[in-house]
Amino acid sequence: MTAETVRLSGVTKRYGKAEAVRDVSFALPAGQCAALVGHNGAGKTTLIKLMLGLIRPSAGGIRVLGEDPAAGAFAARRRLGYLPENVSFDAALTGRETLAFYARLKREPVAKVAALLDRVGLGAAAARRVGTYSKGMRQRLGLAQALLGEPRVLLLDEPTTGLDPEVRQSFYGIIEELRGRGATVLLSSHALTELEDRAERVVIMNRGVLVADGSLGELRRLARLPVRLRVTS
Ligand code: ATP
Repeated sequence: MTAETVRLSGVTKRYGKAEAVRDVSFALPAGQCAALVGHNGAGKTTLIKLMLGLIRPSAGGIRVLGEDPAAGAFAARRRLGYLPENVSFDAALTGRETLAFYARLKREPVAKVAALLDRVGLGAAAARRVGTYSKGMRQRLGLAQALLGEPRVLLLDEPTTGLDPEVRQSFYGIIEELRGRGATVLLSSHALTELEDRAERVVIMNRGVLVADGSLGELRRLARLPVRLRVTS
């Protein structure tokens, strides 16, 4: 068991001549809820794809649960959950059918589905077609999909964008419960205001560069100082 779940060391990702991410380093201890904040194009999704092993860094190294996530034999893959930014489901399937489909795809027991739907507050809507779900309900179904392997690391790409504050609160409630079970949660957001003070750690990206890393309180104090750091709340 490693106390450190994710480590990025001097990570750069280039697409041709363009640098999507430049020399980024940070580590996430087990059980931390951290936020990755930045405007559009800051490099958040690129960092998440690197941590998932979907793309390889042009320079630098990444470890997730002690392994290289881009290696073919990434044994910890099952313990890495992911909620994409724009999750979309087949509107004709029910919530239960949708999650059962993902369970089969991920070779997880279909018997888990009912308990997971309850856990994200969708138990009563399990037999309803996803086409009738609100955006908040679809996000929670997406979270249930990400939780299928009981992940130790959960990467959530802009999970609360477009949700109203009440739904956002319930989403954060589920994240708190996960952290209580020892999971590390990294969520990306384009605005600090969306975090509702829930993330204990904030990593701020701007144009591919890490510009600040600290607690929300520390960053807010810094923002009041005459330094070049834009904090949106
Ligand atoms: P958003 O909130 O819009 O998703 P982001 O912070 O997630 O923004 P990224 O999607 O990581 O930002 O993009 C960072 C930069 O890398 C952008 O300038 C983007 O155009 C560029 N980029 C990302 N993916 C590719 C790609 N496959 N090919 C070329 N450039 C890319």
